[in-house]
Amino acid sequence: MYIFLALVGIWTVIDLFKGYKKAVNKNIYLFKNLSILSGIILIFFLFGPFFLISPVKIGYSSLKSDCITLFYPTSYETRGQEIFVMTKEAEENVKDFYGNTKNIKVLVGLSNIDMLRFGSHPKANGAGTVFGIAIRESKATSNIIAHEMSHKNLAEISNVKTSAKFPRWFDEGLASYLGKMDYYKNEQDLKDDLDRGMYRKDITEWKGIRGIFQWLNLTFIKPNPRLIYGQTYLMVKYLFDEYGQEKVYDLVLKASQSNFDKAFIEVFGITVNDFHKEFIQYIERSPHKSS
Ligand SMILES: [Zn+2]
Repeated sequence: MYIFLALVGIWTVIDLFKGYKKAVNKNIYLFKNLSILSGIILIFFLFGPFFLISPVKIGYSSLKSDCITLFYPTSYETRGQEIFVMTKEAEENVKDFYGNTKNIKVLVGLSNIDMLRFGSHPKANGAGTVFGIAIRESKATSNIIAHEMSHKNLAEISNVKTSAKFPRWFDEGLASYLGKMDYYKNEQDLKDDLDRGMYRKDITEWKGIRGIFQWLNLTFIKPNPRLIYGQTYLMVKYLFDEYGQEKVYDLVLKASQSNFDKAFIEVFGITVNDFHKEFIQYIERSPHKSS
């Protein structure tokens, strides 16, 4: 959404400039158009995608700790307190992996329209945005908040300040692992998916901006979120179980400065493809105790 906004912004400026050159009364032209533009920007701050950084938040209250600021609708006082406790819990879980993080802003939305205007997919329960995290009030859990915090931290570590640097399976899998989202799939469920040909063997190829769209497509358009979240959760869990947290963190640090595939070989001594084969063999090794 923010990429789209930036493009619209650039287009608007170019268009304004073209119009200015053609305008007969340049002062009136400038005054009229700049008033409209500042009106739109003001609305974006007060009600739209810049809400999280707006100094004025009508109808919202905030709660603050050392590294968390939570903004919630003032009429949801009790729920706001609850979500604040969840956020602190989430921060503890994520801190164990990433270490101390910068101040993080969390914004509570109530509806699909809220989620959309705060810069997320309207149907998402939580999302990392350029300015912080948006979370849906009715679906808020410490798991989802920790998941989004992981995305945010990973983007923050990366030298390009976006988690697009990391392939989707790793970014989403790590976020789900740190969010302790063990409720999507267990090993036996994934083995059943593998047997039925539903397992996504191509998942390691979803990278960059294109990878983000492939992921969104399977999450919201052709919905199969249980499968891909569960699969990537288990892939990353396997990395933690087999190689240990320190190695995974080492991968994050190395990959954030260079290239993920290269860093992967450096840290684990095998390619991503070989790791994926190894993981699939592990899943095939039946039986897994089902829960
Ligand atoms: Zn995610």
